[in-house]
Amino acid sequence: MIVKLPPGIRCAVALSYDLEMCAGYQPDLINHGRLMPELQEYTLDLCAVAEQFDVRLHFFYVANGFDQTIELLREILRRGHTLDSHTYTHLPLITDDVQRLDDELALTNRLFEERLGYRSTVLRGPGGYPAGLDGRVANQEVVLKNGFRWVSCKADKNIVKNGNRYLVEAARRDVPYVYPTGLVELPIQGAMDRTFFDMSGFVDTDKYQEWRLACGGRPVPAGWKAPWTPPDALDRWTTYHCEAIDFAYDNRLLWVPVWHPLSHYLHDRDNSVLRRFLEYCRSKPERVWVCTVRDAAALLADG
Ligand SMILES: [Zn+2]
Repeated sequence: MIVKLPPGIRCAVALSYDLEMCAGYQPDLINHGRLMPELQEYTLDLCAVAEQFDVRLHFFYVANGFDQTIELLREILRRGHTLDSHTYTHLPLITDDVQRLDDELALTNRLFEERLGYRSTVLRGPGGYPAGLDGRVANQEVVLKNGFRWVSCKADKNIVKNGNRYLVEAARRDVPYVYPTGLVELPIQGAMDRTFFDMSGFVDTDKYQEWRLACGGRPVPAGWKAPWTPPDALDRWTTYHCEAIDFAYDNRLLWVPVWHPLSHYLHDRDNSVLRRFLEYCRSKPERVWVCTVRDAAALLADG
């Protein structure tokens, strides 16, 4: 598909967050949406930073924590940010259990619609898959049947080992496309925060696993630094994003980075990254539009 940027827009950055207690940070390795209060507070702090730049954030939520998290979800919507489905239990969309996928998507939609008065239209695939939903027609049909026209689930698994240039140029390589069923894929582009901070070459895996088993799933104090990353990890993350913005800017592209509030809570406890990112976007001579994945979907046309 081609991306039709609106007049006056040099490039678009569809920034979204997967809102969940990521499995890799839990002692039992189970992902869920029962967000700890400190993470809820952090998420609202992210919203507040975005609002200062007149930017709306996009959150994909794992709905099995719905009752414990409904006030946060209401507040996110009340403040004009966007919420969409990330399934009920973080179920991979490439599951062979298509009936379960159908049930989970329907249940999540029902909770969103009945309790929040809100319809989800874009689906984020838990985990990300190198081939997206290619060849899985039954899964595509279930996603469509549940009212989604757009899915964001294809993720390149080679990003960490192929070096920085490969990471930065993802926006040109992993472009949106249409599946044979008509469902539209907006691939996750480049490195997610989880991949960058917890799986890349600089990670001290022993220290990470030690922390996960002893302390995972619990709050960390103000100023905390993750013991499994080098001191400059956050600066490297910020530099990568500036380079990727430059690349999208120079080539007039849509870039789709994916972050997690929990990863940033652990690796950017003082919450400085989003502000630095938005300041950098604003510093460019022509307009960099930081938008939602829904906004990005609306820019797509058959190419
Ligand atoms: Zn997820």
